[in-house]
Amino acid sequence: MTFLRFVGSERTMQPGKIICLGRNYPEHAREMKAEVPAAPVIFLKPASALLEPGGIVRIPSFSNELHHEVEMVLLIGKQGKDISLELAMSYVDGYAVGLDMTLRDVQAEAKKKGLPWSVSKGFDTSAPLSPFVAAQAVADPHALDISLRVNGVIRQHSNTRNMLFRIETMLAYISSVFTLEPGDLVFTGTPEGVGPAQPGDVLTAELQNVGSLTVTIGRRD
Ligand code: MG
Repeated sequence: MTFLRFVGSERTMQPGKIICLGRNYPEHAREMKAEVPAAPVIFLKPASALLEPGGIVRIPSFSNELHHEVEMVLLIGKQGKDISLELAMSYVDGYAVGLDMTLRDVQAEAKKKGLPWSVSKGFDTSAPLSPFVAAQAVADPHALDISLRVNGVIRQHSNTRNMLFRIETMLAYISSVFTLEPGDLVFTGTPEGVGPAQPGDVLTAELQNVGSLTVTIGRRD
């Protein structure tokens, strides 16, 4: 994916860095047998991980366990550092639905050895992303149904009201570490129900009032 796209508009934008929240839904932290964090847990994916709707998520040869994580995605519209809670929402330019595709076996090995998650989370095609809807068109981003189907069967279903950290808190925290810039993306964490996706599977992610995203699973040649 070279450019970010928008629903009902010819506008395009170059993607910047991708910041992802971990364990931002308490039920997902529990299913991973991980602590519910006291402060946001963040990691990065490279922009080269983005995948267009309709694309193929390609499992690298060194993994045998690809998991789906459906997430609401924020588009940052302006530069900001040390953003206050009060002004945080004004930095959100749009909303999309995305998938934080994860090589769970590679991640588990990295966790065990205390190594970074870059390979398990940032491999090519690990970040499928729908087009963005303008922020003004989404009345309350903290009250949206979010779901993921595998071959038509519902696997993840929650609501963004169940997020542990609200968008304001995420952006205040993230911008205390990284300067946010236009085109940066925030993957806001996944609800419970993560699980395997096999070659040939069709994944459909949906975010209420925002849209849907379908990808298929394959292997790298
Ligand atoms: Mg995730």
